[in-house]
Amino acid sequence: MAEPIAGYWQNYIDGQFVDGSAGRLVVDDPATGGALAEQALADAGDVDRAVAAARRCHLSGSLSSLRPVERGRMVQAMGDYLLAHIDEIAPVLTLESGKPLWESRIEIEGAARYFEYYGHQAETVEGRSIPLGDGYFDFTVHEPYGVSAQVIPWNYPLEMTARSLSAALATGNACVIKTPELDPLSSNYIARAAEAAGLPRGALNIICGYGHEAGAALSSHPGVDQIVFTGSVATGRAIARAAAGNVVPCILELGGKSGAIVHADADIEDLVSNVRWGIFFNAGQVCSAMSRLIVHESIHDEVVDAVSAMAKSLSVGPGIERPEFGANMGAMVSAKQRDRAVTMCAQAGRDGGRAVTGGHAMNCPGHFLEPTVFDQITPEMAIAREEVFGPVLSVLKFTGDDEAIAIANSTDYGLVGGVFTRDLDRATRVARRMRAGQIFVNEWYAGGVETPFGGYGKSGYGREKGREALWNYVQTKNIAIRLGA
Ligand code: NAP
Ligand code: MG
Repeated sequence: MAEPIAGYWQNYIDGQFVDGSAGRLVVDDPATGGALAEQALADAGDVDRAVAAARRCHLSGSLSSLRPVERGRMVQAMGDYLLAHIDEIAPVLTLESGKPLWESRIEIEGAARYFEYYGHQAETVEGRSIPLGDGYFDFTVHEPYGVSAQVIPWNYPLEMTARSLSAALATGNACVIKTPELDPLSSNYIARAAEAAGLPRGALNIICGYGHEAGAALSSHPGVDQIVFTGSVATGRAIARAAAGNVVPCILELGGKSGAIVHADADIEDLVSNVRWGIFFNAGQVCSAMSRLIVHESIHDEVVDAVSAMAKSLSVGPGIERPEFGANMGAMVSAKQRDRAVTMCAQAGRDGGRAVTGGHAMNCPGHFLEPTVFDQITPEMAIAREEVFGPVLSVLKFTGDDEAIAIANSTDYGLVGGVFTRDLDRATRVARRMRAGQIFVNEWYAGGVETPFGGYGKSGYGREKGREALWNYVQTKNIAIRLGA
């Protein structure tokens, strides 16, 4: 059993751990519903101080003027710090977020992987020389925007922070991170990682505050040069408006209602394992979750039986008691998120969906929802169109390929999609016609930190991960020199 965690956690501004000017926030343990610890709460004044510190850092050149390999090494060292402290960080993340301890370890490893990857990319950002004839010498340089503001969601607080922060630092931007109010504590270790790595003062500032206060103040701050947001569509719109107000670019990573098309020749045992990860990992609180299974009629009943049996086999309970990788699931992050999912399940039942298993809150303390599989879902039902952001799978049936693709493309979202078949010609044709930023063939979540990720439609715009993401954080300058005779 883990040691008790610290009772109070501070923000990090200009190289100092500081209290919040808005006081303290009580962070709950979703597995019990009880108080876990207190977190310093930032107000708009703290946001000002953090942005000013980042701006000073940027203007001083202490980060942006470094030789890229030196910045890259510091970024990599931050990941090394997280891995070296994984035993300490994992219980904090589990207690504040509800996820099983083994999932927290995967998240910390994932966060470290971003620092490794983008640390290595730092020295690959090169300009080019454009020929203009004998009388000129012309070249491009990629310069950091300056101050990058990053507003983080609660589902993967460390991994989402690492994703944007590592690329932003590697390219020489000073950063201000707004952590999620539901699980801000473990982000403290990212500040400690920055200290251990010797990052210049002000290069990283991490503050927790309410979204509508600190988040809104940060995203509309005139001292911010670029914004990265991951979260809901509603907040994404507010962020985009704030960015437009200051004429700065923003990257929006919003939600999804992603579908996997399952053809008659799919390997069902393999599919079940993909569904296990696709919709029950992190209790389904994953933007790219496999929330719709679009199954060929010939194997529909067999798939529903197999998937429901798997869902029933998951042991659901406190994440801290689940240290080992296995068939288990933790609590949802909050009562509000869990109750919203329960309401959506009840509506799905009224709309004609059949809960083959689950659909209810669990009768115990904490914010648990039964692993849920709905059958007899049709594309126009709310449960097939709206993101539940919980462990709730909707199964839909199709007859022909065109119908399957039409169903897959029938939501406003377009984050990811999948196709399961042994026929790679068919898979390729289907993948080309799916409207989503990332398509998985025969393995949900195939890809990695190296592969670009981001949405079509209401899932947002811009790409994170991979080499693509580097271009979010730099602006191109062209320098043309007229040569003397
Ligand atoms: P959310 O309410 O949009 O919150 C995300 C972040 O924005 C939090 O830090 C939140 O602060 C902050 N925020 C809230 N209102 C704000 C405002 N007016 N101005 C600036 N910041 C504000 O989202 P959520 O409900 O917590 O998270 C679930 C949603 O995020 C789902 O729809 C999911 O699909 C999406 N998501 C997408 C991805 C992706 O990569 N595409 C990843 C994770 C989650 P508070 O913590 O104080 O609320
Ligand atoms: Mg929120």
